[in-house]
Amino acid sequence: MLLGAPGAGKGTQAKRIKEKYAIPQFSTGDILREEVENQTQLGLKAQGYMSRGQLVPDSLIIAMMRDRIDRDENRCGFVLDGFPRSVAQADALEKLLDELSWPLQAVVEITIDNESIVKRITNRRICSKCGADYNLIDKPPLPGDLCSVCNGSVVLRPDDNEQTIRTRLDVYDTQTKPLRDYYEARSLLRRVDGNQPVDEVFDSVIGILEGAAAGK
Ligand code: AMP
Repeated sequence: MLLGAPGAGKGTQAKRIKEKYAIPQFSTGDILREEVENQTQLGLKAQGYMSRGQLVPDSLIIAMMRDRIDRDENRCGFVLDGFPRSVAQADALEKLLDELSWPLQAVVEITIDNESIVKRITNRRICSKCGADYNLIDKPPLPGDLCSVCNGSVVLRPDDNEQTIRTRLDVYDTQTKPLRDYYEARSLLRRVDGNQPVDEVFDSVIGILEGAAAGK
């Protein structure tokens, strides 16, 4: 499980972990954006909360994730990014994983200061078609704002404006940060400095995951 404020780099690291171990990756933000795009019932309910930078209600998120996690193809492991984001969600996840006898192996918090986050997020862009990540500083899209993976159009996420980012950071402080203590109490929490270059963050994350798998 990856923990960390918006813009800490969870999505980037989650995608790399998925590729390295060939395991499923569940990013609640990506799943919700797809639901909004497809105008599903869940998407219609979630849209307003997302554009205001607030958390989508726990009951909706818990049902959505229970449905995705509780599948046989996840038996060999998976990576969670953006879930849980509240103590109620963490409790629901713990209950589900207990029922399945799939213990959580590691919680990695990617830490980064708020000003770097605001700078990162305002430069962040995303492919509207395949969700690939870009940033205007060191990973720009192709000319014409096109995605180098699928040729889709690369856009600014509607909730990546400075005002909404500040709300998301406040929400993180009040609702998600308590999860640090939650997982520290279970001896699962490890920290990685998210200000490092992406490759170095990845090496640290992998070191933690392999240590956890080896029972260290
Ligand atoms: P993200 O892409 O992870 O930054 O998520 C974008 C938005 O989706 C958040 O600001 C929330 O509105 C919503 N969201 C994502 N994950 C969760 C979650 N676990 N619980 C509640 N809302 C969520």
